[in-house]
Amino acid sequence: MSVVLRVGQHLWTRARRVLPGGVSSNVKMEERPQPLFFTRAEGSRLYDCDGNAYIDYTCGYGPVILGHAYAPVVEALQRAAARGFIYGGQHEGEILLAERLADAVPCIDMVRYNSSGSEVVAAAVRLARAYTRRTKIIRFGGHYHGWFDEELLATHPAPDGDAAPDGDAPPAPESAGQPPSSAVHVLVAPWNDAGALERLLAAHSGEVAGVLMEPIMCNSGVIVPAPGYLERVRELCTRHGVVLIFDEVITGFRVHLGGAQALLGVTPDLAVFGKALANGFPLSCVGGRREIMDLISDGRVVHAGTFNGNPLGVAAALATVDELARDGGATYKRLIAIGTQLMQGIRDAAGARGVPVLLQGPGPVFYMWFTAAKAITDYPGSARVSREPYARFAATMLGHGVRVIPGGRWYVSSSHSDDDVEHTVRAAAAALEAAAG
Ligand code: PMP
Repeated sequence: MSVVLRVGQHLWTRARRVLPGGVSSNVKMEERPQPLFFTRAEGSRLYDCDGNAYIDYTCGYGPVILGHAYAPVVEALQRAAARGFIYGGQHEGEILLAERLADAVPCIDMVRYNSSGSEVVAAAVRLARAYTRRTKIIRFGGHYHGWFDEELLATHPAPDGDAAPDGDAPPAPESAGQPPSSAVHVLVAPWNDAGALERLLAAHSGEVAGVLMEPIMCNSGVIVPAPGYLERVRELCTRHGVVLIFDEVITGFRVHLGGAQALLGVTPDLAVFGKALANGFPLSCVGGRREIMDLISDGRVVHAGTFNGNPLGVAAALATVDELARDGGATYKRLIAIGTQLMQGIRDAAGARGVPVLLQGPGPVFYMWFTAAKAITDYPGSARVSREPYARFAATMLGHGVRVIPGGRWYVSSSHSDDDVEHTVRAAAAALEAAAG
């Protein structure tokens, strides 16, 4: 497979006239040599407008867990579409899906739907504040929770200054147009450091409504929590009367049917899900303990959205969750096997060429850095590694018909085959030399 861009270049020129940055989400501007234009996606493959095929490890930046255009999900969507796109009223699917989610996810008694991850993070933060009647939210350097004013904070702090020791310096807004006031209720702690969280909670006793984190940090490298860390966080939140919120927008339905909370055995009070919930169809949800979610029931907490619980999103999610639950969760064994084979294959290829790389993660999602480090356990450790060699690696992989996210994160789907893995490892062997040189 080798890639030639022709039509894509014309589209790129046209796109920049009418779409800011030529794309519809800023993160898509990072791809080199230019953002690509696709006409079709099926199974593990993407097809661009120039007729090039790629084995796809972006998986839509996380949502595609079963493969692109996965037949049972497509059929469920077709059946639902024929019955109308939106009712402006309730339907049984919303209940069925909520029941499935309550069965699968440890923290869920009740759920509310939205369409995107950013929206449900906002809903969870509002619920935590209403429940505790407090305002401050503790966040962690390097975690991403969406692009809204109060969410886009501390996502890429300087690696050596991600937490003011007493938490009193609000993080800087990250976008022009984000008011400084969006940061005043946010405290930032270093993740995977229980002592730091303990000190911050003690210093702000009675002020903190919620602790919000990715339970496996995926947005700045993929890092699993240190043994005992989440348990300690859980204890501290309970002791201080703080709502623990897991942002499972990436980990939900990807690392386990019950999310990272089921995989790691620590149950938050609230959790938010998006991406893989509907295998690529936009649907998200916030769920958690009944006494917190019930604040919506009597109207004290306002939560709304025209498209919430729309029949198409719900049908896609029901079909996805059905498939993920089949055969005792066999899909997860496959996802872990593919991820593990890819990581090991690339490690071996790099070792044979003397190129220092680190690959780590649970498998369904993992990360690759060009570094001699044996493991990365915190945000600063990840942020200090230059992403330049990896960007060259990603661009070279594209030329070999493999598409990866330029930053370093890989997603796999259960439609990736052993042949895909083999082809990818061969492509990586060639790209490693180009990247390191
Ligand atoms: N939380 C996390 C952990 C995410 O990774 C993302 C998106 N990458 C979001 C929230 C925001 O989700 P969305 O892009 O659907 O608004």
